[in-house]
Amino acid sequence: MLKDGEKGVIRQRSGEKETYAIAPHIPCGIVTPDQLRKLADTAQKYDVPALKITSAARIALIGITEEQVEGVWEDLGMDPGHATGLCVRSIKVCPGITYCRLAQQDSLKMGMELDEAYHGMVLPSKMKIGVSGCKIQCAENCIKDISLYGTKEGWTMMIGGNGSARPRLADILAEELSFEDARAMVAAMMTYYKTYSKRERMGRMIERIGLDTIKSDLKIN
Ligand code: SF4
Repeated sequence: MLKDGEKGVIRQRSGEKETYAIAPHIPCGIVTPDQLRKLADTAQKYDVPALKITSAARIALIGITEEQVEGVWEDLGMDPGHATGLCVRSIKVCPGITYCRLAQQDSLKMGMELDEAYHGMVLPSKMKIGVSGCKIQCAENCIKDISLYGTKEGWTMMIGGNGSARPRLADILAEELSFEDARAMVAAMMTYYKTYSKRERMGRMIERIGLDTIKSDLKIN
């Protein structure tokens, strides 16, 4: 029996009908036709019962057996990424300025850079990140631990949102940030979280420390 994360699996059913899912890393949910074909061909070859488009914009092959895991990864030739564990999970990103007429900022460029910098980074608790091109927040910024959305004036950064059994809406940390300042603010918040979190999600840390204290520590007016 494999554990969550071992050989890039997510455990599904246990017992006699033990099955696993694997969810290759697809940065910002952007997938090429070749990758889609590879996913479909591999699923067909191993008789995978279903492919699931996940809420984190991955395409998971579900219902596979332990014996199939290594062969499936070898045939896919894709990065397993980090779908489980205490780390930065996949980064949800809206289509942004390249594809959406309402966008104010380039969410895909920002999302790809954040993915490159943070996906899989080990942290005191799991972290979800979202990037949207405008205040409509199609990447569900309000329930992400760290998020950015675009406005005419720049980027608005929010922290402390989460779904789960104890949902919490995010708080605005800073507004009107340039692309570079938004990147720097995310980096500062990551360091702050790594330093001060007591193995709690971002939102619980904010409730314990206080948003005003965090802003003051980060020198935000
Ligand atoms: S958040 Fe705004 S820019 Fe992004 S897809 Fe939604 S409407 Fe378009």
